[in-house]
Amino acid sequence: MRNLNGHLQLCAVNTATFGFQAPLRQVIDEVARAGFGAIAPWRREVEGQDVKALGKQIRESGLKVTGYCRSTYFPAEMISERQAAIEDNKRAMQDAADLGAECYALVVGTSLNLNDAREQVAEGIAALLPTARSLGVKLAIEPLHPVYAADRACINTIAQGLALCDDLNDGAVGLLIDAYHVWWDPALPASIAAARGRIFGFHVSDWLMPVLDVLNDRGMMGDGIIDLPHIRSLVEDAGYDGFVEVEIFSANNWWKKPMVETCRVMKERLFTRV
Ligand code: ZN
Repeated sequence: MRNLNGHLQLCAVNTATFGFQAPLRQVIDEVARAGFGAIAPWRREVEGQDVKALGKQIRESGLKVTGYCRSTYFPAEMISERQAAIEDNKRAMQDAADLGAECYALVVGTSLNLNDAREQVAEGIAALLPTARSLGVKLAIEPLHPVYAADRACINTIAQGLALCDDLNDGAVGLLIDAYHVWWDPALPASIAAARGRIFGFHVSDWLMPVLDVLNDRGMMGDGIIDLPHIRSLVEDAGYDGFVEVEIFSANNWWKKPMVETCRVMKERLFTRV
């Protein structure tokens, strides 16, 4: 396993961690000044802006872009809605390319008929493959914790994500492994080992006890119950050598703190608790 201590350039910040309290231009400066190696912006901060100029600012700050967050959900009742989601995702992939993002993060969506939803997700991702190839933007499917199966994602385990990758059979499609979503999975070691070569990103935060809101009460690494060094060792043993990205949704704690303070604590915890 790599030694992160003293190597913040191996780490990335997902901008959701700051709760969107400042414009992206300012967030880029803050993350670069703190010494991180990469950033992962969200569409809400980027769309409607001069995307190429943002990409230039990021590059000139010495930062890389890990992932661009995130896809419009694929499943929908009407074919026309599903087609609109695909077109929307293609537009966002162009922005991902202009930002220099390594991948486009796919939070896939769901519906109350999970089998239909999974079929629609497979069709939707397949429809994005030509765009992914021509833009050089990889597609990273992020399995979400099963608590989100009804409202955010019908792909809930790494094994399911890998099965979908196998069906699509294209090097442009892989997985984004988020410790918050997968820590509970009894098949974790085997699933991560099976994902060798297809891990496009790795997110860290912590699962607090008790968790007050599964969506927006994530913890800082070391404040909860996830064995993050173990999961990182599994991911790195499977060949992953990309950034370790902090992504914390925390409405009542971290989103209320100044970015400089959050950066200081992330750095300390990445060095000692991940
Ligand atoms: Zn994530």
